Amino acid sequence: MHSELSLIEQMRSGKLWDIPGGIHPPERKSLSNTSPIDIAPLSPIYYVPIKQHIGNEGDLIVSVGDRVLAGQPLTNPKEGLSLPVHAPTSGLIKDIILHVSAHPSGKPETTVVLESDGENIAIANQPIPDWQNKPNSELIAHLKSMGIAGLGGAGFPTYIKANPTKNVELLIINAVECEPYITADDVLMRHYAQEIIQGIEVLQHMVKPELVVIAIEDNKPEAISAIEKVIVDHKHIEVRVVPTKYPSGGEKQLIQILTGLEVPNQSIPADIGIVMQNIGTCFAIKKAVIDGEALIERVVTITGESISRPQNLWVKLGAPISDLLTHCGLVPEQDQRLIMGGPMMGFNIMDIMMPVVKSTNCILAPSEYLLPSRGVEQACIRCSLCADACPVNLLPQQLLWFSKAKDHDKLEEYNLADCIECGVCSYVCPSQIPLVQYYRTSKVEIKQAKEDKIKSDKAKERFEARQERLERDKQARLQRHKESAEKRKKALEKDNSAKDKIAAALARAKAKKNELAGTTAEVENKTSEANIPEVKTTDTQDRVAAAIARAKAKKQQAALNSDETKPDKTRTDDTKPKDIKAKGTEVVEEKVQTTEPVSAEQAKKDKVAAAIARAKAKKLKEAVEPAVSNVEEKEQTSDPVSAEQVKKDKVAAAIARAKAKKLKETNETEPKTDNTSSESIVPPVSEQMSTDSKTPEQIKKDKVAAAIARAKAKKQKDQGEQK
Ligand code: SF4
Ligand code: SF4
Repeated sequence: MHSELSLIEQMRSGKLWDIPGGIHPPERKSLSNTSPIDIAPLSPIYYVPIKQHIGNEGDLIVSVGDRVLAGQPLTNPKEGLSLPVHAPTSGLIKDIILHVSAHPSGKPETTVVLESDGENIAIANQPIPDWQNKPNSELIAHLKSMGIAGLGGAGFPTYIKANPTKNVELLIINAVECEPYITADDVLMRHYAQEIIQGIEVLQHMVKPELVVIAIEDNKPEAISAIEKVIVDHKHIEVRVVPTKYPSGGEKQLIQILTGLEVPNQSIPADIGIVMQNIGTCFAIKKAVIDGEALIERVVTITGESISRPQNLWVKLGAPISDLLTHCGLVPEQDQRLIMGGPMMGFNIMDIMMPVVKSTNCILAPSEYLLPSRGVEQACIRCSLCADACPVNLLPQQLLWFSKAKDHDKLEEYNLADCIECGVCSYVCPSQIPLVQYYRTSKVEIKQAKEDKIKSDKAKERFEARQERLERDKQARLQRHKESAEKRKKALEKDNSAKDKIAAALARAKAKKNELAGTTAEVENKTSEANIPEVKTTDTQDRVAAAIARAKAKKQQAALNSDETKPDKTRTDDTKPKDIKAKGTEVVEEKVQTTEPVSAEQAKKDKVAAAIARAKAKKLKEAVEPAVSNVEEKEQTSDPVSAEQVKKDKVAAAIARAKAKKLKETNETEPKTDNTSSESIVPPVSEQMSTDSKTPEQIKKDKVAAAIARAKAKKQKDQGEQK
C-alpha cells in the first residue's frame, strides 16, 4: 500500500488510516479544560521518589538534614538508562524513607522527604543559549542532567529517544490525549503553544527528521488553533487532526493512524524511521535547554464529579495528592473512588499521601453514578466483544484463560507482550471481568520469571566454569607430577651408583636405630643398679622389685627429714597415723636391707611398739615437769608449817628427775636386743598412765622397747643420708 509513495509523501498527502477495535467512551473533558492552568500552592512536605521513570534510579547525593534549593539534584544518574530527580522547592531534607509509590501496587519505594521552607528559592538556571550550535552529545547530556522523561505516561528517558541510532524520517508529536477526563495536554497547547514549538525545534535539531507532525484529536479545536498559529513559519512542522477514538493515542496506534504502518513485534518505531514524543515532553525540553530548568513540575488535571473546582494545575513533583484534592475542593461521596490517570488506564489511589510523579497527568474523583465501579466478576460467556474491541487484534478471552492458568508459554505465544493495557476489553466485557488487571499481573510474573531465569542461568554458567577450571587445574597438576616422576626416573637410570648410595643410606639408618635401642636398655639397667646396689636384677621382676625398694627408701627419707626438724628427740607427742606409717615403713625397710624375710604381721607389731615408746616418753616428761614446778613454788613460801612438806616434795621431785634421766639415757644408749613383737611385752598405754602400778620388771621392758624403736629410726636415718 506504500509502494508508490515515500513515508513523507504519504504524510504530506494528509491521508489517515484507522485502527482495529477501539471505543468511544464519554469524554467529560469539559469539566477541566475551560479555565487556564493555575499554580498549586506550596505543600508543607514533598515526597520525591528517586525513581520516576523507566530504567534505574540514580544514586542519592543528599542526606537527612541537608538544605536544598528548588532544582537542585537529589540523585546522580547511573550509567545506562537512568535519570536524576531534583528538589521541587527549597527546604530541608527531613528524611529518606520507603513511601507509597505512584504505582498500581503502591509498593513502597525509596523517597526523599523534603520539608518546604516556603521560600521556593531556586538554584541558578543552566540554559544553553546557543543550543543550535551545540553537538548532540552536549544536548543529550543536558537533557539527562535535567531529568527529562516522557510525560505521556510511560516515563521513558527523553535523552534516549532524542538520540536515535537510525535515520529518522518522521517525528510525531503526540497531542491526542484520548482518554476521558484528562485535559492537561489540551490546556498546555492552548496556553503554551509557542513554548511547545520551541521544544520541538530543539528536538528537530537533535533528531533531524524530514518532517514533524503534531497529532491532535478533533475534540480539541482550541488547541489545534493555537498550535497552527505558531507553526505558520515552520515548513517542516505540520498539524494532523485525527478522529476521536480511544485508544488512538497509543504509540503504535497513532503511527498506524498517521502512516498506515504497523510497528513489527519486538520492534520500536525508530526501526521504521519514526520517533514519537509527547507534547508535554516538548514543553519540558524547552524549559530544560532554553530556560535551563530541571523537570520539577508538570501540568496535572484534577477533575471528576466529586471535585468542586476541577482544573489543571502546575504541580511540583512530589506533592501529595491530598493537598491537591484539598486545594480543588474534593467533596467525597460514600466510598469515593480516587484514580491516578484516566478511567481507562489509570489505577486506584490506595493512599492519599501518594505523590505526584513525572508520569502523573490526572487525579480523578468520579461519581459512582457516572462512572460506576466494576461489578462482581462473572463467568466468561464467550461473546467475543473483547476481541472485537482490542486495538491490537489480540484474543483477550484466550489470554484470560492462560493468565488464570499461569501458562506463560501460551501467553507469550498469544502475544501478551503486544497488549498496550488500554483497558478496552475490560470496558466492553459484559461479565465485568477485569481482563486488563489479569494481563498486568501476568506481565509482571513473566518478567519476574525471566529475571529469575537469567540469574539462574548466570549462576549455572559460573558453576560450570568453576568446575571446568578445577578440572583443568587437576589435570595440569597430575601432568606436572607425572613429568617430575619421569625426570627422576631418568636421572636414576643415568646414575649407576645411585642404588648403591640408597642401600648404604638405608644400612646406616638401620645401624643407627639398633644403636639407639641398645643405649636405651643399657641406661635403664645402670639406673636400676645405682638405686638398689644390693639387689642384682636381670629380668623384669627384679627391676620392679628394685623400683619398689627405691620408692620405699625415698618415702622413708622424707619421714626422717621430718623427724630432724623436731627440737626434742624424746618428744613422742606426734602420734598421727601418717607418722606411725612412716615408722612402720622404717621397720620394713630395715628388714629389706638386712635381707630378712619380713611378714606383714611383724611389720605391724613393730609399728605399734614404736608408737607405744613415743607415748611413754611423752607421759613421763609431763609427769616430771609439774612435780619440779610444785617444789619450787613451795620453796618460795615462808610458811614454817609446810617446811617439812617442802622437803618431802623436793625429795620426790629429785627421785622423779632421776627416773626420767635414767629412762632417757637408757632409751638413747641401750641397743636393740630383742626382736620380739613389742605388742607381746609392752602393756597398753592406758595401763602405763599410772606408773605406781608398774613393776620394775615391766618398766624395764618398756625402756627396752623404746630403745629398740629409737635405734631403728636412727639406723634408718643414717642409711637415708648415705643414699
Ligand atoms: S468480553 Fe468478557 S464475556 Fe465476552 S468473551 Fe471477552 S471475556 Fe468473555
Ligand atoms: S487491554 Fe490489551 S487485550 Fe485488552 S483491548 Fe487493550 S490491548 Fe487488547
